Amino acid sequence: MDTITFPTTEQLSKMQTPCYYYDMALLQQTLDAIRQEVEQYEHFDVHYAVKANANPRVLSAISGAGLGADCVSGGEIKAAIEAGFPADKVVFAGVGKADWEIRLGLEHDIYCFNVESVPELEVINQLAAEAGKMARVAFRINPDVGAHTHANITTGLAENKFGISMRDMETVIRLAQQMEHVTFMGLHFHIGSQILEMDDFVALSHRINELQDRLEAVGITVPNINVGGGLGIDYQCPELFPVPNFKAYFATYAHHLKLRKGQHLHFELGRSVVGQCGMLISRVLYMKQGTNKQFAILDAGMTDLIRPALYQAHHAIRNLTSDEPASTYDVVGPICESSDVFEKDVVLPGVRRGDYFALLSAGAYGEIMASRYNCRALPGSYYSE
Ligand SMILES: *Cc1c(COP(=O)(O)O)cnc(C)c1O
Repeated sequence: MDTITFPTTEQLSKMQTPCYYYDMALLQQTLDAIRQEVEQYEHFDVHYAVKANANPRVLSAISGAGLGADCVSGGEIKAAIEAGFPADKVVFAGVGKADWEIRLGLEHDIYCFNVESVPELEVINQLAAEAGKMARVAFRINPDVGAHTHANITTGLAENKFGISMRDMETVIRLAQQMEHVTFMGLHFHIGSQILEMDDFVALSHRINELQDRLEAVGITVPNINVGGGLGIDYQCPELFPVPNFKAYFATYAHHLKLRKGQHLHFELGRSVVGQCGMLISRVLYMKQGTNKQFAILDAGMTDLIRPALYQAHHAIRNLTSDEPASTYDVVGPICESSDVFEKDVVLPGVRRGDYFALLSAGAYGEIMASRYNCRALPGSYYSE
């Protein structure tokens, strides 16, 4: 059975808090679950979205499982290569790639650039010419498909800054086909993150089918389709559902997206790979009685885990060191911002100064988004093995 394993009291006593703790066995179980599903489909390839978590140990485990890497910056390309991802399994996405980042991708002969505009395509063609190389490119198309998720993390609507509009798709492909230093590799989509409704992926599949029909009618062949990432995790009951429903996710695309002969389908999963294996460990600094509230003030704050402050995200909170009668608390951080609140009105076993808390489901967009605001140190990391 897949489970989240908490650090032991002995492990806790050796940690310098606040810090991240990674359950490496759960990460492995998650990677095994992905492999098991993907193996059933001949032309499915999974790239891990490095931006979710670029911790070197985590990256090495993922590259060891044979996944490719989806990078959104030159720094991520370097981190991926250092962690052992082969360059021919690295894709480079992002709406604003700097020249040095494009050059770095060319130097390493990465698998593909996911291009988001014509000016970018022109720069890639020019830099590839200078380097005497061919750049493989896919176009990120904005499919104007919404996702049932937080407004800050939808990316596939016409109003979002991402991608090329469907109207311009054919023109841009023709342009690439005429350029001397780029090779057209396919179409790329990504509609958002933390998506739990398979219907959103069905809608994307239908849109891709339409676009493929349109291109086929004018004689354009598309080597690959890339549907991005976005599969969500269970932030409410992480202990019950530590591994996302990859079976339903891949089956949805297998049933609804009509791949053409020889076409590969690429996925770029981030959150669903690493979200549940990481937790933020923090100690209670003070208990404070407010007018109508009790505050548990932690040594971790929004600088260590910004998702609650940024997206009103929920992270399940566990008091690992108390079996006192339960009470209700506002769990807050030490940062000088009113939004530095992890959760209000949480029922927890009686909290005392020095207790250890775990904020669960923090493996994705946790450690990597940590900042040094208030001149704080970045959180360290520990591993189950
Ligand atoms: C962020 C991102 C992903 C990964 O998204 P998850 O929701 O973490 O799976 C994949 N592709 C692109 C282009 C992204 O920007």
